[in-house]
Amino acid sequence: MARESRTARRARLEEIIKRLGAAYPDAKVGLDHTTPFELLIATILSAQCTDERVNIVTKTLFTKYRVPEDYFRVPVEEVEADIRSTGFYRNKAKNIRACCEQLIKRFDGNVPQTLDELVTLPGVGRKTANCVLSNCFNIPGVTVDTHVTRIANLLGLVDTQDAVKIEHALMEIMDEHLWNTFNHVIITHGRRTCIARRPQCNSCVINDLCPSAQNI
Ligand code: SF4
Repeated sequence: MARESRTARRARLEEIIKRLGAAYPDAKVGLDHTTPFELLIATILSAQCTDERVNIVTKTLFTKYRVPEDYFRVPVEEVEADIRSTGFYRNKAKNIRACCEQLIKRFDGNVPQTLDELVTLPGVGRKTANCVLSNCFNIPGVTVDTHVTRIANLLGLVDTQDAVKIEHALMEIMDEHLWNTFNHVIITHGRRTCIARRPQCNSCVINDLCPSAQNI
């Protein structure tokens, strides 16, 4: 197969985003939240856990812990018990408290609005930082999770499992105004159609734009 030009790849990706946007008009971040702080905590809890489980836990968690200081008003064991069903609860409780401590000490209890500052917080990597920036502050960013990693490779947009390389490669191919939409539609596509190990290629609306469609 002839190597795809940069222009052709850009046009193909734009068409992919357009079609997926039409197929999933309800695509949005799967973690329930009403503030940047809540989304930050929810993303820390979502490591190795489904969004559905996190949403069940945060429904009551966020009524008890509204601001960073609240996570220090009870013993750490109580925080652990409150988030236990999300798994890895000891580590997550430790990260949440360490993150809250930094928010209080360095950011007056607020969630910072830059990638560089966000990634200095314990438990917060580029994926979480971009997720918070794009969903809460409307600052464009490409969030690379397992769905994006898998589907970007299947679509032949990248050829690597390295999240940072994928993030930069996708940012280069796409115009900035598409980044946030891309996150939502690809993650939704990964959950509903291009499911890991059993992609539904026959009913996929981007079948003709996907080099992996015939091989699965
Ligand atoms: S055609 Fe198949 S492999 Fe390609 S994006 Fe669609 S579901 Fe995934």
